[in-house]
Amino acid sequence: MKINRRNFLKLAGLATANVAVGTLPGKAVASPGHFTGHPERRGVLVDTTQCIGLNCRRCELACAKEHNLPTPEKAPEDPTVFDKRRRTHADQFTVVNRFKGQSPETPIYAKKQCMHCDEPACASACLVGAFSKTPSGAVEYDASVCIGCRYCMVACPFDIPTYEYFSALHPRVRKCTFCFESRLQQGKPPACVEACPREVMTFGRREDLIKVARQKIVRSPNRYVDHIYGEHEVGGTSWMYLSSVPFDQIGFRTDLGTTPYPELTRNYLSAAPLVMAIWPTFFLSIYLFTKRKEELAAEQRLLNPSADGNHRTKEDK
Ligand code: SF4
Ligand code: SF4
Repeated sequence: MKINRRNFLKLAGLATANVAVGTLPGKAVASPGHFTGHPERRGVLVDTTQCIGLNCRRCELACAKEHNLPTPEKAPEDPTVFDKRRRTHADQFTVVNRFKGQSPETPIYAKKQCMHCDEPACASACLVGAFSKTPSGAVEYDASVCIGCRYCMVACPFDIPTYEYFSALHPRVRKCTFCFESRLQQGKPPACVEACPREVMTFGRREDLIKVARQKIVRSPNRYVDHIYGEHEVGGTSWMYLSSVPFDQIGFRTDLGTTPYPELTRNYLSAAPLVMAIWPTFFLSIYLFTKRKEELAAEQRLLNPSADGNHRTKEDK
């Protein structure tokens, strides 16, 4: 992986969180290290050459319905939705973006969501173990233990987790769930996969999907570049992609390397001075104190909306 400023900040944040986790007694967190388990884990292979995007985006709609999220802002037939590159947010866990193809008549559409990494940086960065990689392949998030530090957002190499900034009380981190509770646990494919009229996405055992992807590349070398995105990136991901053009042309980062992010931070930490072990505890204490104050203030506002902005909580005094 190239260590540019962006990657450095992600690794530094991740390392800082890892040190802080080490300072918290009795916290069970996803431990970093090479991924060895869950051979039956599921995945999805996304064949971007089959996606039609315009007049469709049924995957976005199905996702919104499945998670009781608002209907995507623009209608399927509205081409202006592709005028700017969209990213996932707290109200939308998957987005389809448009990219230049071989000619203006053949644009490429690519769906984006959490990649459900085999060794997730979000899990490794989380101070309280709110994220876990399940045997099914999904990276699950438990809002009940989340303290809102948002280290996961800094750490994710795909910029996926978002935050409910609009929620005054108990805001959550939000991201694609792989439909873990409602579908995956019952062996069913995610809602977006089922809704797609073009069968862009194939759901199955990750190992089988890699074989399917290889066969496609061998059988149609003119249709696909020889690369399964996600097979090795950041140590492997449950969601993988095929493309007709190099992946950097359709919005994928190709500078991530194949080493899992948690492993990179371990190397980084072994060279970090002792002060790195002290600062996180200090920052975490400040953070928890500030967060509690914000929660108390928000509760007061709800209980007494007419109170002026100068109202002070007991802890403020
Ligand atoms: S439902 Fe399928 S074809 Fe339609 S936009 Fe989504 S991935 Fe593309
Ligand atoms: S894509 Fe980001 S949020 Fe999703 S599992 Fe990987 S690190 Fe976590």
